Amino acid sequence: MNKLRQIFLVILLGLSTAASANKEIIRILAIGNSFSEDAIENNLYELAAADGIKTIIANMYIGGCSLERHLDNARGNKGAYRYRKLGLDGIRKQTDHMTLERAIKDEKWDYISLQQASGLSGRYDTYTPFLPALVAYVRKLAPKGCKIVWHQTWSYSIDSTHGSFKDYNNDQMQMYYAIMDCSERAARDNRLSMVVPSGTAIQNARTTFIGDNMNRDGYHLDLSYGRYTAACTWYEAIFHRSVVGNNYAPKGLHRDIVFAVQKSAHEAVNHPYEITDLSYIKSNDILYRNPSIPTEIRITDLISRMSLKEKILQLNQYTLGTNNIENNKGDEVKNIPAEIGSLIYFPTDPKLRNQMQRHAIEDSRLGIPILFGYDCIHGFRTIFPIPLAQACSWNTSLVEQSCRVAAQECRMSGVDWTFSPMVDVSRDPRWGRVAECYGEDPYANGVFGQAAIRGYQGKKLSDSVSIAACLKHYVGYGASEAGRDYVYTEISRQSLWDTYLVPFEKGVKSGAASIMSSFNNISGIPSSANQYTLTEVLRNKWGFRGPVVSDWGAIEQLINQNMARDLKDAGQLALNAGVDIDMMSHSYDKYLEELITEKKVSMETLDEAVRRILRIKFQLGLFEHPYTPDSTPSDRFLRANSIETARQMSAESMVLLKNNSSTLPLHKGMKILVTGPIANATHDLLGCWWGHGVDSDIERLNESIQKEFGPDSEVRYLKGCDFDGDDATHFQEVEKLSRWADVVVMCMGEKGSWSGENNSHAYIGLPDIQRSLIKRVKSVAKKLVLVLANGRPMTITEEAEMADAIIEMWQPGLYGGSTVAGILSGRINPSGHLAMTFPRSQGQIPIYYGRRNSARRHQGFYKDLPSDALYDFGHGLSYTSFSYGNPTISKKEVRSGDKFTVTIPVTNTGERDGMETVFWYVSDPYGSVTRPDKELRHFEKKLIRKGETSEFQFNVNVDSDLCFVDSEGKRLLEPGEMTIIVGDKQIVINIIK
Ligand code: BGC
Repeated sequence: MNKLRQIFLVILLGLSTAASANKEIIRILAIGNSFSEDAIENNLYELAAADGIKTIIANMYIGGCSLERHLDNARGNKGAYRYRKLGLDGIRKQTDHMTLERAIKDEKWDYISLQQASGLSGRYDTYTPFLPALVAYVRKLAPKGCKIVWHQTWSYSIDSTHGSFKDYNNDQMQMYYAIMDCSERAARDNRLSMVVPSGTAIQNARTTFIGDNMNRDGYHLDLSYGRYTAACTWYEAIFHRSVVGNNYAPKGLHRDIVFAVQKSAHEAVNHPYEITDLSYIKSNDILYRNPSIPTEIRITDLISRMSLKEKILQLNQYTLGTNNIENNKGDEVKNIPAEIGSLIYFPTDPKLRNQMQRHAIEDSRLGIPILFGYDCIHGFRTIFPIPLAQACSWNTSLVEQSCRVAAQECRMSGVDWTFSPMVDVSRDPRWGRVAECYGEDPYANGVFGQAAIRGYQGKKLSDSVSIAACLKHYVGYGASEAGRDYVYTEISRQSLWDTYLVPFEKGVKSGAASIMSSFNNISGIPSSANQYTLTEVLRNKWGFRGPVVSDWGAIEQLINQNMARDLKDAGQLALNAGVDIDMMSHSYDKYLEELITEKKVSMETLDEAVRRILRIKFQLGLFEHPYTPDSTPSDRFLRANSIETARQMSAESMVLLKNNSSTLPLHKGMKILVTGPIANATHDLLGCWWGHGVDSDIERLNESIQKEFGPDSEVRYLKGCDFDGDDATHFQEVEKLSRWADVVVMCMGEKGSWSGENNSHAYIGLPDIQRSLIKRVKSVAKKLVLVLANGRPMTITEEAEMADAIIEMWQPGLYGGSTVAGILSGRINPSGHLAMTFPRSQGQIPIYYGRRNSARRHQGFYKDLPSDALYDFGHGLSYTSFSYGNPTISKKEVRSGDKFTVTIPVTNTGERDGMETVFWYVSDPYGSVTRPDKELRHFEKKLIRKGETSEFQFNVNVDSDLCFVDSEGKRLLEPGEMTIIVGDKQIVINIIK
């Protein structure tokens, strides 16, 4: 810095401050935004008080407020501020709708500070047109002797996702120097009394052991030591006393941090425009081991102690526990490096985990705990219906509770992390993995995914019954061509944004701890090497801070996908694109060292990936509690409330697809034949990821039906046929008993192993043998009820014709038997609605609700088949009936920023209590990007007692519910008409500018 400037500043500081500390009360008003809130609303009062100085401190707040806006508010005398004043008594009072004039006149201020909005604060062209006029305005109103000071803002953290960061090439130093230049000029050109150099103080602190951890979100300050740093700077600047040694510090802040921060502020006030290298300020403590140190500082400390090899091992995931032979387990533990980052853990109790964890803690240099993951997809030991079925419940809190049960069972068994929820939108039931997602709708996948995250992660990851969630498979995996697993996906940027990314964005926003990169190739760039989705979108746009784990072997598979030359190349592509953890490809452990030495992967990239995996370990509390406490299986599993939740989920997820002439419920006293391969099945009811479900816990349909109908009814069971094959030897006896029975309950469907991963089926109807048996029974039965257990929508057009009633039970987990029995008897009133369309035939696929409209809406249909679905998305019957009244709307003309409500009364007009789900769709008749015919935006499920009316409400937020995204993810809200569709009613609203 040139000498003259320095002299100028010293004079300014000297003139302005020497007297202040001696005055009785110092009054400070900041005209600012959240940056002044960070700097003066906390700590400054206490710092002064610690030195016996009395203060009154106030902040005029508008989020992100620029000089231009302040001036506009001044000129218009606008009551646009939230005014928060900390009085002599230390009590904070808030006044809304404050004007600048009133605030300036409110006290005999000694100091009034001004500042520019952070993003603009390094661009002097945003100062010059406004600052002089604003200063003149303040000078005119301010009390005599009041000093107008400039408050320096600070540059963002290196990984900040703040939109304005790109104005500085996402470069912290470039931003810092731009801010320095501007604040110096602002003070000089406007003859301001002083500059409070908080920006420099923050930058100084970044050179200490605290590192680049000064911000809580990349730009605002960390709430404890970050804010304290800014306050210390104000203290020293205004009171002209060294802050080093001041007795006040936020509660619990480690003494070394207090010192580093005070010193950073002190040096900044003495050298306001240049960074003082304080890297010599270290801590003698092993900070990463100290739980009272803020997490990010612990991570920085730990990384600084790690060798290259130790870092690399953190980024790998192997498996543990596949070998069931007790004697070999010890060997297995020993064979795994103690520095490994993560393991997929297969056992059901924590014994082996603890053994392995001890190896990590005691046999490695730094004792970093291992993160244990597992696929807990629809339950660990208490097995719930498959996710596709759960979505049909349309009950998000039940999904949350189910995942809560799963989390408790996992964590107590030694699992910290589940690879769930899967939120892959899919419109192709040939793809076996539709069982694992929440259906065909992006919004539904989003909100159920959020519910699952809430359930798994609970209030705090470190709770002894919470686990980290993993959103998967990022992204577009469900678009697999022709429904085949692992294959290419053709996804335009528009569809990527308005269909496939939607649930992931929601999940990231609601705090998912991790994400899994998928197997598929997205229009030429495989997901696990996709810089756009993994870094530009996930990190830069959404600010995701958790680790990305590859799907199993996905890095190695980049070779098969013709992207990588070899395993080393694959690792380079994956890590540079943004995959932090290598699940089972052994690319990072083998080649990362070479890649770093050859500078093909930078040390910063490596450190950032290590930081992400360490962060999740700290969040889970593994450094403090690496071992899982012992418990008995009955402590952990199948607790009474867990069973209750699973039963409730079964009941709400089953869908009554058809019920002609009120065939159901059946009457007591009836003669019932139960038949079909599902009737006595156990394992096949569990679904595709049955975790540690035990077959003997599963309720069999035939037994449950016997029990339900009891001695008053005669219930007989015959297997009838297998799932497939051609053994028709038992048809005859089935036919005979069908004649005897009043009703034949045919329990048909898929084997459990026919859906799920690597289970694509080109034919998704019932196998011939089952179809033949249905035909045979139909020819003689008085009533035919079809009960279907399956992991995907099936083409059952002919069977649906033959059946009088159909219950879609899905793969229900443990308690499907009693649920189906309850639906048959009427004890349970079905309330499920389809989350995925049932096609009439494979030839219609893809078929889903809300497609974009055709150029010729009344032509282009199939010549050989109806073009509509067999059962639509949202379809589902009840034993009662509901009628929708007239909707009312709180506002018909709306604009950006508005919120309004639409309400509809729904009456239960039938003879039983029942649950109704109201679906709210929006439909946009024209726009710069054409929209699907209709899009789900909200749903709600409620119990309505018979004869009663209940109001359902959609609280519409114009900016999120009525807008759409373009192909770069930009949200657009366009003027014009929009229709809200609810039941059989429609309301047109007008969006104005
Ligand atoms: C699946 C993932 C699963 C992973 C780990 C992969 O084959 O695609 O969904 O989480 O294996 O078991």
